[in-house]
Amino acid sequence: MRINFIALLSIVSWISAQETPQATNAVEPDQSGENAEQCTPYSAPIVQDNLGQFPPLWETAKIVQGDTTAQNKYDEIKQVIPSSIKPKGTHDGNISDVSYDASDPDCWFTSSKCTHPKVDGLSDDLATLPEPNTWGLGFDDGPNCSHNEFYNFLSDNDLTATMFYIGSNVMNWPHEAQRGREDGHELCVHTWSHHYMTSFDDEGAFAELYYSIQAIKLVTGVTPTCWRPPFGDIDDRIRIIAEGLGLRTVLWELDTNDWKMINGKTKDDVRKNYQDVFDAAERGIFEDHGTIVLTHEITAETMEMFIEMYPNIRDNFDYVVPLSVATNRTNLYVEEETERGEVFADYVNDHYGSTVNQATSINTNIHPNPTLTGWQGPLATIANPTVAEVEAATEPTTASSSSSSSAGSSSVSNDSGNDDEEDVEDDKTEHKSDDNIPSQKSNPFVYNYPQNTHSNNGASSGGHTSITKPVFTMVALFVVTMSCIR
Ligand SMILES: [Zn+2]
Repeated sequence: MRINFIALLSIVSWISAQETPQATNAVEPDQSGENAEQCTPYSAPIVQDNLGQFPPLWETAKIVQGDTTAQNKYDEIKQVIPSSIKPKGTHDGNISDVSYDASDPDCWFTSSKCTHPKVDGLSDDLATLPEPNTWGLGFDDGPNCSHNEFYNFLSDNDLTATMFYIGSNVMNWPHEAQRGREDGHELCVHTWSHHYMTSFDDEGAFAELYYSIQAIKLVTGVTPTCWRPPFGDIDDRIRIIAEGLGLRTVLWELDTNDWKMINGKTKDDVRKNYQDVFDAAERGIFEDHGTIVLTHEITAETMEMFIEMYPNIRDNFDYVVPLSVATNRTNLYVEEETERGEVFADYVNDHYGSTVNQATSINTNIHPNPTLTGWQGPLATIANPTVAEVEAATEPTTASSSSSSSAGSSSVSNDSGNDDEEDVEDDKTEHKSDDNIPSQKSNPFVYNYPQNTHSNNGASSGGHTSITKPVFTMVALFVVTMSCIR
């Protein structure tokens, strides 16, 4: 089965915009089958009727003209954004012109993997887990139109995960986002257009998060309280904006680099990355904590790789749980009427039929509850999005109840699909020529493909990494470090 060109073009285009094309293990494309069908763009009224309330899909976000709710929220948050922290680099991740102090004053993860903010009142990022021998299960870049087989696998194995959805993807594939919600996965934000967040000015960073929140709310009915920065590109300025919107920041400890299969890494390369995690487990590295391992639903290939690796994950870890469970967070969404999540001990009991075998399942609510307690410090007064605010912000302009029911009723209509990884190269090739972009221009779901303006410097992936600490500026080591983290 095939992934339609369209299915991956948007995501591949932004990857391509940040990566130097490399030799690829090209495979013959297969353009038939169920994936092509399930990845055919469609118009869901709930999205179509509300497009005017959102920035253009896949374009870097700004506050929509006339959106006073967003503007007021931004004005509120803006008051506590430190002017000393400036935007860094380009949206595509070129930081070659950035001069940055080696002491890492902004807690810039891209520079130092810093996860302990230096601005008072900010919560630590979540990168490891308190529960030993636990794999924190999460996937970035969805919802992917071809994810049904993968989500079937998760359900069949009684797995729920933390899904970091791209706002534009949610608008493109609302039924797939609804499936994520209906399957019980924890929905978090992964920005509107998937660019390097520290490159945005304050308003742009706000809008990237704000409209992703609204997209998830519009399509799934819930307001997320967590997010992960694309490429891990975050500093304290971005953290303040995120927390001002009620989002806790999630990063990762280890990285499979699975998405790099788009750019020429082989399956064996990625298998080795997984194996490195398993080897660490065998050495007892996770006896005192659990880990968050970065994985993606970006392509069928990355999803299939997880399925292949899952038996080994089970062999090497006691528990595989969503991130909220691993941190005993039960307030998954702003809406108080939504179901609560489970604390770790209860989840283990329900899903593994056993009691927790180590006494660490105390309430380790690392991140303050934005709906109940607010944050300490300067954010305390602004970090509490209320249901009323959310409802006001997502009030449909023309959406009718029939629109909602239409979208809802067909929320899992695509799940007969099948995946195939072979189309990645094909899509990538396709992407090189705009002539091949399908004629969706009149479709409201047309992708606004980012132009392929990448520099050769741009690029880390998940940001991961091991950028070694620069001596005085980021300039000198940039090229070297980028090559290390590809
Ligand atoms: Zn991503």
